[in-house]
Amino acid sequence: MSMEREDFFEYDDTPREECGVFSTISLSGVPKDINLATETYIGLSNLQHRGEDAAGMGVYNGLFWGHTKEQGLVSSVFDEGKYLNGFAPGYITVGHVRYGTAGEGGFEAAHPHKGDKHGFLLSLNGHNRQMEDHTGSKKTDTEMLVKHVDERMTESAENLEDALLHVLRKLNGGYSLTASDGKSLIGARDPWGFRPLCLGRKGDVYFFSSEDSALGDIDDVVEVAPGEMVIIGPNGVRSELIYAVDNPSFCAMEESYIARPDTTFEGRNVQQTRMRKGRLMAQQEVPGFAPDIVIGVPESGLDDAVGYAEEMNVPLRRALLKNPYISRTFIKSSQEKREIAAEQKIRVVKQEVVGKHLVIVDDSMVRGTVGRVVIRKLRNAGAASIHLRIMFPPHRHPCFYGIDTGDSSQLLANRMSHQEMVDYLGVDSLMFITPENLREAISPKLGGLCMACVTGEYPTEMATISAESLFARVRD
Ligand code: SF4
Ligand code: MG
Repeated sequence: MSMEREDFFEYDDTPREECGVFSTISLSGVPKDINLATETYIGLSNLQHRGEDAAGMGVYNGLFWGHTKEQGLVSSVFDEGKYLNGFAPGYITVGHVRYGTAGEGGFEAAHPHKGDKHGFLLSLNGHNRQMEDHTGSKKTDTEMLVKHVDERMTESAENLEDALLHVLRKLNGGYSLTASDGKSLIGARDPWGFRPLCLGRKGDVYFFSSEDSALGDIDDVVEVAPGEMVIIGPNGVRSELIYAVDNPSFCAMEESYIARPDTTFEGRNVQQTRMRKGRLMAQQEVPGFAPDIVIGVPESGLDDAVGYAEEMNVPLRRALLKNPYISRTFIKSSQEKREIAAEQKIRVVKQEVVGKHLVIVDDSMVRGTVGRVVIRKLRNAGAASIHLRIMFPPHRHPCFYGIDTGDSSQLLANRMSHQEMVDYLGVDSLMFITPENLREAISPKLGGLCMACVTGEYPTEMATISAESLFARVRD
């Protein structure tokens, strides 16, 4: 684990999505009424929460790719959108936002990646660690995937679609990806469907996006099915099966707190799922428990707190405020970063908490570092008692399917007993939502839900082997 990653978890204790994808194609050439680069910029901005460290986009104009990727937020990489003027108008785009620390990968690890020989672009949401290949050079999973596809195209004279299908049929990890050779646009989702991917249409223009909320007002939207590869090109829209498995395993964290509240999965609105979680958590309380107020930890604990407060019939108060203007870049470059980070990021409205019995609702707990700072601030503000409610069951196992929870040896629930956590955090009581209630709140239509980071039961074979990458788990 790099130093930067350590620091990051010191001030933000939420597991991180590794990436988001947003890509477009117009089947009637360069559209006159909309600019696909602008659409992609807006789409990526709406997926910013899935990866704040790097962004990139390729735009195909019929002759060549305009292609840029850089570390930073979407708005800074594309200079508030001004950078887009430098692209020749195009009819295909491939876009990406990425989470990854400066020490890990940097620019080279940003997407989209380009095939060396065949010039296609590919962006992927999924497992994306760096590792050494047989020559000793460092590559991410996505770079390895691109290299394999590029080689396959050379060796077997296959087009991008066939070569990609060939390689994906050998993988058993979690991913959603988009790719294009300038002729067609491909979107694919792993056979278990760990990561989300949807397809929207507006006239002749098609959009792939990690979340449907990023598509704005487009109503014509479907989800790409687990194991499905959709190919959109001059011959229309086609679908191929990568391979089928009998245990679909959508990531429980996506719905629980990674996705935007206005996103839907299988027709379920994420905000409503979170409110259901809150209500079910309230039903876990012992009879007679009567706090004075409920406070959600911003941002992703807020919806759960609404459901919890409603079910408990206790007032909800906005007594914790998050300062959105303190950037990660600033925190990383600051001398006293560990001390100032969480301290500055969250503030308490003292008048709301003094003398009160509080329930604090948070989305998750990884190492407990932030929870501890927040609890101390609430104590100093004069709270009478503090009861912490965590809306995801205890994290005990690493994720191999695209979410970063840091080093499993540092997961609080791994290191401590329940009582030790209570003491360490300085709370009067601590409760986690049960896996059963989490499952009930989500109730996935396909029936399968991944909770491997809670249960240690990995849906894919061989995932518990060192599993450093997608390619460590190539089948056969
Ligand atoms: Fe999601 Fe956890 Fe499964 Fe990873 S292990 S896909 S974070 S539920
Ligand atoms: Mg959090």
